[in-house]
Amino acid sequence: GDAGAHTQVGAPILRITALRKSYGAHEVLKGIDLDVARGEVVAIIGKSGSGKSTLLRCINGLEVFQQGSLIVDGRHLLHDNPKAMRELRQGVGMIFQSFNLFPHLTVGQNVMLAPHLVKRRGRAQNAERARALLARVGLSEKFDAMPDKLSGGQQQRVAIARALAMDPAIMLCDEITSALDPELVGEVLRVVESLADEGMTLLMVTHEMSFARKVADRVIFMHQGLVHEMGPPETIFGAPQTPELRQFLGLMEGSAA
Ligand code: ADP
Repeated sequence: GDAGAHTQVGAPILRITALRKSYGAHEVLKGIDLDVARGEVVAIIGKSGSGKSTLLRCINGLEVFQQGSLIVDGRHLLHDNPKAMRELRQGVGMIFQSFNLFPHLTVGQNVMLAPHLVKRRGRAQNAERARALLARVGLSEKFDAMPDKLSGGQQQRVAIARALAMDPAIMLCDEITSALDPELVGEVLRVVESLADEGMTLLMVTHEMSFARKVADRVIFMHQGLVHEMGPPETIFGAPQTPELRQFLGLMEGSAA
């Protein structure tokens, strides 16, 4: 992404400090501290229920948190500021496991919707931009198609184009290949890898360990609501320090067979 006016050179694009989030009495995030540099690709791994998805939803302003602070691209967000949360959502793109395309709109209309709602630009200008974004995910010929005529992999690529339409400073990916047939996973991961190559800051929760190993600059292992271990992929996968990470990697190996 391009450098925002409120961004200091060298400052982390994302800074999470002492973030805590509970659902009722159940504390799901127990004090998360994390800095992410501009252009960095961070993979988040960990068992189901460890809080990965909740963390992404907090960063995107989809969840209210009880303690701590978030700074995204120079925008400060404290736990008790709903207005700041709405602003935050505009600087952060998010892609989910389910593609969530509007079934009654064409592919092009799905991609045009987000910037139209936010920036209220002209229709022609938005269409041109949507075409360029669809080309970027390899789907320029699908502009007028309806979503249900596309494969799951193609639908997810449309969802990526739609998220890019917001010009996000950071892109959050929450298990974006988990709902796909195995033969469609590669085409989506290749698009994500191209975003990384173009310098997009990426935070992705993933079960694709080989992808994390290959593409991530840094891997975060979450366990019971905390960042339990963090490091370059070589260390996380090659020399895990804690028994919890070693056990998790053993489980993943078993399930990949
Ligand atoms: P992960 O993404 O690592 O699988 P989640 O962030 O989805 O973990 O969930 C962490 C914990 O928070 C789980 O115990 C889950 O049951 C709980 N949780 C998630 N969302 C909600 C919710 N909306 N209400 C209550 N509990 C929730």
